[in-house]
Amino acid sequence: MAWRIVIAGGGFGGFYAARTLERILPAQAAHITLVNDVNFLLYTPLLPGAAAGTLEPRHVVVPLREELRHTDLRLGTVTHAEPHAACIHVRSLEGHVEEIHYDQLVVALGSVSRTLPIPGLAEHAIGFKTLSEAIALRNHVLRTLEMAESLDDPKAREAHLNYVFVGGGYAGVEGLAELQDFAADVIELYPRCRVQGMRWMLVEAGDRIMREISPDLAEFTERELRSRGIEFRKQTTVQRVGPDAIELSTGERIPTRTVCWTAGVKPHPVVERLGLPLEKGRIKVDRTMRVEGRDDVWAIGDAAAVPDPAHGRRVASPPTAQHAIRQGKRTARNIAATLGTGRVRPFRYRTLGAFVDLGRYQAVAATVGIKWRGFPAWFLARTYHMAMMPGIKRQIRLLVDWTVDLLFPRDASELGQLGHPPALDRMPLEAQSVGGTPGEVVPAEARLDRRQGAEGAPRPAAAGAPANRS
Ligand SMILES: Cc1cc2nc3c(=O)[nH]c(=O)nc-3n(C[C@H](O)[C@H](O)[C@H](O)COP(=O)(O)OP(=O)(O)OC[C@H]3O[C@@H](n4cnc5c(N)ncnc54)[C@H](O)[C@@H]3O)c2cc1C
Repeated sequence: MAWRIVIAGGGFGGFYAARTLERILPAQAAHITLVNDVNFLLYTPLLPGAAAGTLEPRHVVVPLREELRHTDLRLGTVTHAEPHAACIHVRSLEGHVEEIHYDQLVVALGSVSRTLPIPGLAEHAIGFKTLSEAIALRNHVLRTLEMAESLDDPKAREAHLNYVFVGGGYAGVEGLAELQDFAADVIELYPRCRVQGMRWMLVEAGDRIMREISPDLAEFTERELRSRGIEFRKQTTVQRVGPDAIELSTGERIPTRTVCWTAGVKPHPVVERLGLPLEKGRIKVDRTMRVEGRDDVWAIGDAAAVPDPAHGRRVASPPTAQHAIRQGKRTARNIAATLGTGRVRPFRYRTLGAFVDLGRYQAVAATVGIKWRGFPAWFLARTYHMAMMPGIKRQIRLLVDWTVDLLFPRDASELGQLGHPPALDRMPLEAQSVGGTPGEVVPAEARLDRRQGAEGAPRPAAAGAPANRS
């Protein structure tokens, strides 16, 4: 009988585990099942490009069914697991819960934005982790410009034209840089806004940005962003977020309707319901990625505390796609080894480099000891991501998008209504109350629109539901 290999989570770790298993195990030897809550892999390093309108949103995802031809894809949400009964529980799209039994399980459920108990944060800020958040941000920036343009009072326009990012890791810095670049492009179409100008700000609790890369490259990034007018508040924390202002530990109160929270990630909360040992919230595994005390469960990526070979295995590997991909591939080989093909080996990868795309043909990069900045780094980053994108068809689409972006100005259509068509027998969505009801899951766009509100419209109490997350 074929072995039942179940992979929970179809992001970088889970996708590469499935793909490697497909390649190394004969089809009749194993039945591979991949459980994911969406039918695509989100290529997160390109998320800032999608937010900035440089890339089509569909071009930054990989349809799992297209790339995994011999894997049984089950769309659903893993709710919990029973390791002693060797099964996971999955809520399917249409709502029923089923048990999926396994001989080998790989947990690759990723992470979610790490929030803090700051008053108003959950209600008024948005993350930058999912495709829906990135696209909602782009649409929101356009709406703020439209709104500001319609106001006669420059003081009233201010909150619409101030944008605050919190958290200076590479995801936050890239998101801020690309979105500011986008807004600086399209503001030409808004005469009043252009005259008044925008204000973009990065708030970081530490004394430097981007700890993932060397201090000189981080300094170069900061200089580049300062030269575009972006303000930095380092060693500063957020005290409170309101519907139209943010308060900082420096005592400053910045009028703003846009607060983007990019201050780190934490393992997906569902990992606490899997009955597996945890270490600082991540699943505890050994060097081979096998979960402590279990022969049949492996954990990888952001959800797992895989001992980092680059630091003598004293700390967990950083939550990066580079690590998740290699852990996925290695785990697949280790599973094959437990089934009799090859040997179980430890995870050995050390980071080869890092790219931080800053938009406007600027980037910083560190690759195998060589540091790059400016245009060469930008070119290198794009070439690298194109090469890493699975599938030639998607690689060509990226190339076309980037080429079009070089030749033409960016599109300023605000498409926030996409995916939310009005019901046939109801008022259009814009005319309905966006107040929300208790327990309602509010899409990212709707939450931002609530903040945006119509001038003078009462602002409803916040629902604060996380966007696009199970
Ligand atoms: C904006 C941004 C930019 C980034 N840039 C880079 C970069 O340039 N380089 C780099 O190395 N890393 C980058 N990262 C980090 C990288 O995205 C993560 O480290 C990587 O995705 C982790 O892989 P994973 O497989 O652990 O999780 P993920 O890729 O997040 O995959 C987890 C999967 O599990 C699914 N899932 C979650 N919960 C459930 C559930 N209950 N049931 C079913 N399915 C579920 C999710 O939908 C997802 O498909 C970036 C991250 C962000 C947010």
